[in-house]
Amino acid sequence: MGSVADERALGFGGLVSELREVFDSGRTKDMEWRQSQLRGLLRLLREKEEEIFDVLREDLGKHRGESFRDEAATPLVAFPATAFVLPEPLGVVLIFSCWNLPIGLVLEPLSGALAAGNAVVVKPSELAPSTAAFLAANLPKYLDSKAVKVVEGGPQVGEMLMEQRWDKVLYTGSGRVGRQIMAKAAKNLTPVALELGSKCPCIVDWLDSNRDSQVAVNRIIGAKWGTCAGQACIAIDYLLVEEEFAPILIEMLKSTLKRFFTKPEFMARILNKKHFQRLSDLLDDPKVASSVVHGGYFDAKTLTVEPTILLNPPLDSDIMNAEIFGPLLPIITVKKVEDSIAFLKPRPKPLAIYAFTRNEKLKNRIIQETSSGSVTFNDAIVQYGLDSIPFGGVGPSGFGQYHGKYSFEMFSHKKAVLKRSLLIEFMFRYPPWDDNDSKI
Ligand code: NAD
Repeated sequence: MGSVADERALGFGGLVSELREVFDSGRTKDMEWRQSQLRGLLRLLREKEEEIFDVLREDLGKHRGESFRDEAATPLVAFPATAFVLPEPLGVVLIFSCWNLPIGLVLEPLSGALAAGNAVVVKPSELAPSTAAFLAANLPKYLDSKAVKVVEGGPQVGEMLMEQRWDKVLYTGSGRVGRQIMAKAAKNLTPVALELGSKCPCIVDWLDSNRDSQVAVNRIIGAKWGTCAGQACIAIDYLLVEEEFAPILIEMLKSTLKRFFTKPEFMARILNKKHFQRLSDLLDDPKVASSVVHGGYFDAKTLTVEPTILLNPPLDSDIMNAEIFGPLLPIITVKKVEDSIAFLKPRPKPLAIYAFTRNEKLKNRIIQETSSGSVTFNDAIVQYGLDSIPFGGVGPSGFGQYHGKYSFEMFSHKKAVLKRSLLIEFMFRYPPWDDNDSKI
């Protein structure tokens, strides 16, 4: 066995997995559980008051009169007073954006940063150079060019920018770079928001009518192949479908794809050779290649990939572990649609979970038992356009939320302001205290 330190590390590993087990059981989400825990805290304060006075005296030499204030008396001593929250701008903020939605991923957070009153540097992605040049040429013409700057360039420029002190950094892109951004920001205790990627699953339940199934198929196609050829952070990554339904769904997908994509220009191309090669490599594994049931043609000249459907590629293959970010759609079959929940639970928390279903019980179970940045029923991608709900990830898909008022909040500090009057004075706040009379 290793050193004491090793054993302690092992011990803490056990501790954390024990807590995860409790959390995974769902117990801590229950309203009654939460109330009972808060009641427990109150009971502790009431029943152990004397002991609390004792330990505070032992550790800090605190008199019980002062200790009592520590414990509970703040709201009363603050009377009369008014308290409010004042949002204040954070200062000078930096926004990194990604190539796949190169306008929206700049303007959406920029609007929040400006609404909150910040000065802003925008760093568009060098991989969408025409858009970056457009933003650099035009933003200063429409905005206060002294307060809003556009810096063009690639990773090296990004790294140089991160050498500066910022009051907030919003980064949209890969988790790999997101980690570097966060580590650099830590030097100045700069808060960060990371908008990263993930594998967004889509559960497809049997829908009783042909018409509804067709609507679902239209929307799945729109959210996979019709949005930058699947190169979108909230694109559907793979489908979860009951075994018996899979052949019907595949036929409907094929015939609808044929009807929708009558010209090659109706689907975006792959960004560059590197991404084209990455997608082609995903099909290198013979077991994956043999699971292709539709498409699979790659045109290196035009950097286009035919809409491709795979049925049950191995779960340990790259295509089922890395974010696909392209027009390849694996379908994974489950015995019962409800089994999808057990499939999702141990996997990394995605940016979005989608489900096409009319089953309210299933919807509630998905909401309650899985975790993701967002959940959308009977559609996909469209949640991005709603300003009334926040957009952002959870766990490895990122943190920090924006859109609508959440963009304003992302770039504001909620300053707590308390205004007291000098009128009423409670003298029990101050010594001398009577040992037997420390309560109000
Ligand atoms: P990218 O190459 O455009 O990089 C994003 C930004 O990071 C660019 O501005 C780039 O110049 C900058 N950058 C790269 N390396 C850097 C470094 N070392 N230091 C500082 N800055 C650096 O985008 P990408 O990395 O190809 O991103 C694709 C990923 O982004 C996918 O995983 C996708 O899901 C995710 N994404 C997430 C969202 C979201 O809102 N959550 C939106 C779009 C894309």
